[in-house]
Amino acid sequence: MAGTSVIEIDRTAFIHNLNFLQHYLGDEVKISSVIKSNAYGHGIEQVVPIAEMAGIRHFSVFSAEEAQTACQVKKPETDVMIMGWMSDEEIEWAIDNDLEFFVFEIIKLEKAAEKAKKLNKVAKIHIEVETGLNRTGFTQRQLVKVVKFIKENRDLFYVKGLCTHYAGAESIANHVRIQKQIRKYNQVYKWLCNREIVPEIRHTACSAAAIAYPRTRMDMVRIGILQYGFWPTRETFIQYIHKRMDKADPLTRILSWKSQIMSIKKVKTGEFVSYGTAYLAQEEKVIAIVPVGYSHGYSRSLSNQGRVIIDGQRAPVIGVVNMNMLIADVTHIPGVKRGDEVILIGEDNGIEITLASFADFNNQLNYELLARLPMSIPREVIN
Ligand SMILES: *Cc1c(COP(=O)(O)O)cnc(C)c1O
Repeated sequence: MAGTSVIEIDRTAFIHNLNFLQHYLGDEVKISSVIKSNAYGHGIEQVVPIAEMAGIRHFSVFSAEEAQTACQVKKPETDVMIMGWMSDEEIEWAIDNDLEFFVFEIIKLEKAAEKAKKLNKVAKIHIEVETGLNRTGFTQRQLVKVVKFIKENRDLFYVKGLCTHYAGAESIANHVRIQKQIRKYNQVYKWLCNREIVPEIRHTACSAAAIAYPRTRMDMVRIGILQYGFWPTRETFIQYIHKRMDKADPLTRILSWKSQIMSIKKVKTGEFVSYGTAYLAQEEKVIAIVPVGYSHGYSRSLSNQGRVIIDGQRAPVIGVVNMNMLIADVTHIPGVKRGDEVILIGEDNGIEITLASFADFNNQLNYELLARLPMSIPREVIN
């Protein structure tokens, strides 16, 4: 049965973004492609093989479940790193399948040792250090125990990496905090090396840090949003463009989201459209009903705000976004009819609909809207 909408992934554009990023960051910096939250809504199964075509051999996920999805489609030699949640059974599964994972709890380290011993294998760990985000990561005090434990169980662990995550590298407002975090991280790295625990790779940067703080790139960067063609914030884009002669955006959006018109009708002057009083027709209107609503990931915050493209023309979303439907004003579009394509995200005829408008001060909405695109919407790879 057909869904009410489809998400298209542009292979060529995705490869272009990854090539650009690798060229920009330099060959000595490895890119780990972050594919958590169903690859920011793009689809893990669709994204992984394309990224591999662009030379990516390392992926980051949040959970063991996402790792499993990646494992079903990746090349045997490609590495997967779990940054967040794993149950005890999943720790065993991960070790057995040679996956890498973050450790940020002594108990997790102990579990990993227990499972590695049982399997007669080595746990490939990334030690996450608390540098100031105050989320996950070992504090200096805990690290004393970590060192002791790893040394006592040398043959059960391979210390693949030392990592941390920044508390908002996409905003200048956090500059001092980020600088402190970088300093702290470097201190911990030295401290560990002095205790004969030498992580193979150092990695700290997300997209924003990789752009705004070049010294955070180190051996590997964990790139999420940029590879999908979005800048973390406008500030990050300005920081990039600032040092360039060419002021064009080098990235291309790779996701389009399309539906079609389910119904069309006329509304008389003075009538309200959809629930409540959110939208008043101040003249006679033609409206198009589209079978996509907030249950499909089209945010309610786009009520009276969103735009879609119909027949190569921009059409405003009017009234509140319903659970399963939204309504677009198509009064200005001649010949519009039931079944016409509706572009919710994407471009046509030189018009582009991005999720949060690029002019927005804060593009954090992009992350949220992308990540909320339901798994159940079919993904199709094009180009
Ligand atoms: C999500 C995430 C990233 C990637 O962030 P982007 O801003 O999308 O590049 C990197 N590191 C960690 C730990 C993350 O959770």
